[in-house]
Amino acid sequence: MDEAVIPHAQRSQVNFSLSSSLGNRLAPSPTLLINERVRRMWANGETVFHLGFGESRFPAHPTIVRALVKHASRQGYLPSAGIPELRQAVASFHSRQLNREICPDQVIVAPGSKSLLFAFQMALAGATVLHTPSWVSYEPQSRLFNRPVLRLPASPEDSHRLYPRRLHHLLRHSPHSQHLLILNSPSNPTGQMLEPALLEEIADICRREKVLVLSDEIYGLTAFGREHVSISSFYPEGTVVLGGMSKHLSLGGWRLGTALVPPGEKGQQLLQAVAKVGSELWSTASAPIQYAAVTAYSDDAELAAYVEMCTALHASRTRYLWRGLSELDIPCAEPMGGFYLFPNFDHWRRPLTSLGVQTSVDLARYLLEDWQIATLPGSDFGTPPRELSLRLSTSYVDLETDEKAAQMIERANAGACAAQLLRDHHPGMNEVLARLKKLLSSL
Ligand code: PMP
Ligand code: GLU
Repeated sequence: MDEAVIPHAQRSQVNFSLSSSLGNRLAPSPTLLINERVRRMWANGETVFHLGFGESRFPAHPTIVRALVKHASRQGYLPSAGIPELRQAVASFHSRQLNREICPDQVIVAPGSKSLLFAFQMALAGATVLHTPSWVSYEPQSRLFNRPVLRLPASPEDSHRLYPRRLHHLLRHSPHSQHLLILNSPSNPTGQMLEPALLEEIADICRREKVLVLSDEIYGLTAFGREHVSISSFYPEGTVVLGGMSKHLSLGGWRLGTALVPPGEKGQQLLQAVAKVGSELWSTASAPIQYAAVTAYSDDAELAAYVEMCTALHASRTRYLWRGLSELDIPCAEPMGGFYLFPNFDHWRRPLTSLGVQTSVDLARYLLEDWQIATLPGSDFGTPPRELSLRLSTSYVDLETDEKAAQMIERANAGACAAQLLRDHHPGMNEVLARLKKLLSSL
């Protein structure tokens, strides 16, 4: 038939089907989904207390903004692993942090550490091992290319502790010959940290079993419960350290992640494989952002002080909510880093069941629909569906707008102490606690 006589609607219907391998294995990432949903609800004028998304809301530091403006006209593609100046700056930054020498050729940068996680999982043979609950994207990424995932479950009763002998048992009985252990300390979703003695034990097991560790340390500079120690200090030859600018510098939307591979030839092989994946997926991290990141990773006392101040604010806000939950007798491990809590509501299972709440997904839905509190279900983080756990992030509530976040920083800069800031700037957090109290007393 002549093109011109085909009706327009018919012409626009292209006959295609979605790949079954993708369609059946992937849902939208729950963190981004809840954030978009809450933003739509706000746009419709609805009240929602947003504990669903973890994003540090504080302003970009002016020194880094100036560096970005200076380099805004950088328009060209750059080397896949990153520009030499940035790889050098990241190496020097981590040499100071880790107290040992990191060479620039051990560094690769990408648009976000999420992309790097994907590339490492894609590049490596074997299975991924996850201490569970674990961050939402590790497993869905593995599913994209049929990578097996083994879970090492932890329990809310003992603050989600990792037991080395269970890890050893799991590795010994695994049907796979190679493993990648993903660790995340401080942890999203539990806010827990792995203490040095435990890291040392894990390192010994991994060395014996020839397991590569991918240590997601994106919250390393937002630790407040104890000093952050990297497992790479005990196992440098077998650890990849992931980081980036999203959390401690509040620059999630700038999309800049970093990875340090182990020294030596094997590390270089791995870096080249990841750079190849990157070269086919994102080509290179954005040019202006890379140049601005050189400043962000410089040895600048003012930037370090800003990171410290933001971390102190996350600490007091997260501890405040934790104390409120504890006063309501809601079991929840005391936070040590980042801005997350992982409370458990199993104690109220029976009355909740009569309200139709049987799973953590039901619980999150009920809290959003009936109490206007946005959270994420524990099952998005790999806990059993019927365990009534939720992931709460304190990063958004009472900092919903950029103005509110800037105001809090201004007051902190002017010397206001944590107690004053909590008193003056946390109506939303108090309202969440009041609603939870009302909910529990109604059960
Ligand atoms: N790991 C963890 C544990 C996270 O919480 C995040 C942020 N969602 C990421 C990795 C990815 O961060 P980005 O891609 O912004 O570097
Ligand atoms: N880290 C954030 C969270 O867990 C969200 C960003 C993301 O998932 O990419 O809520």
